[in-house]
Amino acid sequence: MNIPDFAISYPDEETCRKKFKEQRDQMGVTCRHCNCKEHYWLENKQAYECKRCHARQTLRSGTVMQHSNLPYRYRFVAMHLLTATKGSFSTAELQRQLGHKRYQPIWEMANKLRDVMGKRDDEYMLEGAIKLNNAFCSTEISLEDKEKQLKRGRGSQKKTKVPVMAGSKTVENPKAGKKVRCLKMKVISDLKFETITNNVKDRVENTADLTIDDLTSYTKLKEHVHSHTASVIPNEELANVLLWVHTAISNAKRQLLGVYYKIKPKYLQYYLNRFCYKFNRRYFGEKQFERLLIAAETYVPNFKSRIYVYFTLKVYRYFNPKVYHFKINSKLVFYFLEAPPKSRKRALLFSLLFSFSANHFSGLFHSV
Ligand SMILES: [Zn+2]
Repeated sequence: MNIPDFAISYPDEETCRKKFKEQRDQMGVTCRHCNCKEHYWLENKQAYECKRCHARQTLRSGTVMQHSNLPYRYRFVAMHLLTATKGSFSTAELQRQLGHKRYQPIWEMANKLRDVMGKRDDEYMLEGAIKLNNAFCSTEISLEDKEKQLKRGRGSQKKTKVPVMAGSKTVENPKAGKKVRCLKMKVISDLKFETITNNVKDRVENTADLTIDDLTSYTKLKEHVHSHTASVIPNEELANVLLWVHTAISNAKRQLLGVYYKIKPKYLQYYLNRFCYKFNRRYFGEKQFERLLIAAETYVPNFKSRIYVYFTLKVYRYFNPKVYHFKINSKLVFYFLEAPPKSRKRALLFSLLFSFSANHFSGLFHSV
């Protein structure tokens, strides 16, 4: 779908909401309490009511839009851009195009969509001839590592490890050779053999034929797959033997470098999700948007950038029921959690002082 078609199909919020509901009705709504599939639609509440236990759920719950108040049209525009464009784009760009005032909600929305893309791809296992290699993507150094001395090479704190797997099958035209079908990239914390083996077990069928470089961290892989070819591949041969894996790694790296200035290691997976999702559906053409809409209505994203703050606020609220300054305090809590260890003491002191003074003032306020 191109931009003029998108503008004609989804001109306003109401059309997008209708399309969202139509798709949800088509997929079927299941009650969270009794698993009943029969529901009434309450137009004034914009919610479904279970016919058996009368539990209600809104149109947004159970989808990518759960706990979000952003308009449906924002999500549709984001999905359109994510599927229709070949390269990537920054959240700041998306924010400008939507004309939204704040960056944070748009950033969360885009990452939730990328999260959903990853969840959809995780449903499929790789089979056939599989090639595996590790990619080392440049990311921002975490706050804790900033104070340590930088390591060189693969173990560097600037590099995040990503095993890349490509599953291929032989196509009928012998000249074309093998064609890659599906690609998976998963961020891992280290290169220990347990981590790599578990990663492969979760994503590769045990009937697969695996081709890998002869590394010690790959030794246990042969127990899981049907056949296993491991040989020491010289650097100049790597591009030929692991052809598709290499192409995918360099394309992904180029795309990330071209758009994002710095990526935090914990968010790298979301960007890779989008890259793999697009790659695996490169022949879908116009259907990509519809497919992403189905995925968006099937999964609830795990992406939560404010989880610590939310938890801390819950505890805070429990002990200080009279205090109504959660928003300001949440920033302090965030600052405290994100601060480097050296300045944590100061951040904690500030936070405590603020809590104390706020408690004091709110006490005064209530006594008046
Ligand atoms: Zn029910």
